[in-house]
Amino acid sequence: MSGYSQALIATYETRVPRYTSYPTAPYFLAAGHDGTYREWLGQLDPLVPLSLYLHVPFCAAMCWYCGCNTQVAKSRQPVADYVALIEREMTLVADSLPARMRVSHIHWGGGTPNSLAPADFTRLMTGLRRRFDILEGAEIAVEIDPRHLTTEQVEAYAEAGVTRASLGVQTLDDRIQRAINRIQPFDCVAAAARQLRAAGIQRLNFDLIYGLPGQTTADVVATVAESLLLNPDRIALFGYAHVPWVKPHQRRIDEAALPPGPERLEQFLAAARHLAQAGYAQIGLDHFARADDPLAAAAAAGQLHRNFQGYTTDAAETLIGLGPSAIGALPQGYVQNDPGFRAWSDHVAAGRLPIARWRGLIEDDRRRRAVIERLMCDGRVDLDRFGGWSGFPEARDRLDRMVEAGLVEIDASGVTVTDFGRPFLRAAASAFDRYLGLGTAQHSSGV
Ligand code: SF4
Repeated sequence: MSGYSQALIATYETRVPRYTSYPTAPYFLAAGHDGTYREWLGQLDPLVPLSLYLHVPFCAAMCWYCGCNTQVAKSRQPVADYVALIEREMTLVADSLPARMRVSHIHWGGGTPNSLAPADFTRLMTGLRRRFDILEGAEIAVEIDPRHLTTEQVEAYAEAGVTRASLGVQTLDDRIQRAINRIQPFDCVAAAARQLRAAGIQRLNFDLIYGLPGQTTADVVATVAESLLLNPDRIALFGYAHVPWVKPHQRRIDEAALPPGPERLEQFLAAARHLAQAGYAQIGLDHFARADDPLAAAAAAGQLHRNFQGYTTDAAETLIGLGPSAIGALPQGYVQNDPGFRAWSDHVAAGRLPIARWRGLIEDDRRRRAVIERLMCDGRVDLDRFGGWSGFPEARDRLDRMVEAGLVEIDASGVTVTDFGRPFLRAAASAFDRYLGLGTAQHSSGV
């Protein structure tokens, strides 16, 4: 077994954020109007490239484990409305910027970006190129549901300059696939990978999940082993987050069949061992990359970053989110678009930037955000750069218990998460979170 006692897991299985931002999204505030966001956009430095995230909130059917902001599109109409509206949102954003901005990263997420017809995808990419300078060599990534990928879509992606595809694989076990309402045989994933590579989209990421109902450690390792037959550049291995109070469709998951904390941890560790033996470097908490992937190079050089898509090579300080629920990060703070499709549509149609929530950053937030990002990315942070330990007295108290458990080591200038403590990276980062415990935010399990 893993060597982690049940008591240790129970202590650190507390619900903690994933730290894709700081302050985290539950601590964003209601935005009464879009004026502040317009100002923030207008103040951006025209010489500094930015990143774009486009959220496509549609799927063909609901997977019961899903934690995303999406809806089942029963007809083409909402998708057609969406395409026209997100183009309008691009215009609203571009008109608020101080100049025609340069773009270094574009990420299409969802939902299912390949619920867009090829002509719609092409139209939106053309719309982006009309309003922004997409840099030579920019990464353009698309999340893909292999079950619905068509040859025409692959051609449209290649034509539009897509460089990376992220395939939702999750599990290749048909019994577990039935338990989560996502039937997707290996051949379907293999065909998608083959088509994308044949079209020149060489960089592939697979998303896998552990902790699903009825899933065993052997099941997780078998899915990893099968996935490796397709030689993905990266694997993201996420723990299933059971939050039925946020996502009511998760009530269809058999709670009694969910693996308990120690088993979840064993599943992750066994998969991580298998990936290490296959030559994949573990990146941060839950990503794995082949040595020739830029993510592995960034991690080795201490240049890894973390944003709403997880671990990334994207160093841009500004990320503009488009589409319902999309979150943007700007030097001044965060903004989140209205998650409701109707509310988002109404704002955009009325010519308003469709934000529902925001959070301006104070100096203390910036400092803690940088500390948390380094810990989540490097497993080590040097606090001398941030005023030393004296600036974080409460963190020292919180970390002392983790030191006793062998999860972290503390020295005069900072904190290092041990190899043994790596599964508890989120808990270590939470020691620097000034907001955690304030308010009513509930997060997923920390392990
Ligand atoms: S395809 Fe992805 S976004 Fe859509 S329901 Fe399934 S998990 Fe959620």
